[in-house]
Amino acid sequence: MISLETIEQARERIVKHVSSTPLVRSATLSELVGTQVSLKLEHHQLTGSFKLRGATNAVLQLSQLERDRGVIAASTGNHGRALSYAARAVGSRATICMSRLVPENKVSEIRRLGATVRIVGSSQDDAQQEVERLVAEDGLSMIPPFDHPHVIAGQGTVGLEIAEAMPDVAAVLVPLSGGGLAAGVAATVKAMRPAAKVIGVTMDRGAAMKASIDAGHPVQVTEYCSLADSLGGGIGMQNAWTFPMCKALLDDVVLVNEREIAAGIRHAYEYEREIVEGAGAVGIAALLSGKLAHLKGPVAVVLSGQNIDMTLHRNVINGLDIATEVD
Ligand SMILES: *Cc1c(COP(=O)(O)O)cnc(C)c1O
Repeated sequence: MISLETIEQARERIVKHVSSTPLVRSATLSELVGTQVSLKLEHHQLTGSFKLRGATNAVLQLSQLERDRGVIAASTGNHGRALSYAARAVGSRATICMSRLVPENKVSEIRRLGATVRIVGSSQDDAQQEVERLVAEDGLSMIPPFDHPHVIAGQGTVGLEIAEAMPDVAAVLVPLSGGGLAAGVAATVKAMRPAAKVIGVTMDRGAAMKASIDAGHPVQVTEYCSLADSLGGGIGMQNAWTFPMCKALLDDVVLVNEREIAAGIRHAYEYEREIVEGAGAVGIAALLSGKLAHLKGPVAVVLSGQNIDMTLHRNVINGLDIATEVD
């Protein structure tokens, strides 16, 4: 488990490098749900997601020698972006390994953030093998996307900001995949506001943490395409940190389907004037779906990221059949 003190230290460490994000009341959601609902606008974070907090906290705890050698990961999504930015900001350098199937816009975005891109093989597994080779041969430090205490503590600073801005918070809705965000936020909120509920929200197809909690141990699930692409992937069969923390600390895990996620993205845009990616919209989606009708407020909903392809976003807003987008 990770203590509140550790998370407070993480905040001190990263404060100069990340934004603290606003928590704003949503009039429309409060009315719809019948209780006060506020949105934690973490999609306004630098690099477009909360992942910068954990990545920055991890890189800042490396020795000078390790920082000089550099950090490495295989993620082309929000973790890869965050690590690229974080490494450069603290005078290190990130190498991001990816397969040659990764689209060019993602490659150039990672390069723009200052990382060295290594294109190897034709699958995520090939990219991961290259990471392991460079760790072994060149002494680079691998920074994982969620299952690492420094990453979890960094993500937990989102919870600090919520508990401080909303002392009477009764429930927090957190997007859930590998569980770094949910574990960190739950550790913080449960320590500061023990009566508050912390609820993970994820997509109904391929929900690895939910299946693992139900089974009592990490399990593998089939992966599907989803509007919430940042929530894809397993939790790791050797999971050491986020699984036990999520299992112990989350009060519930709520699942939302593709149509509900699309409705969440649309609500964010039309009523809140916010552009969020699918993963960032699952909390709103859960509220709109009626699956949390029993919830007592004040409720804080974490909008975790904004990195959605803008053509896809337009299509979702225009109500195009999203099945054709994700299947
Ligand atoms: C990574 C990510 C998540 C899930 O975070 P975990 O720590 O893996 O549970 C949610 N939303 C966005 C936008 C993300 O990038």
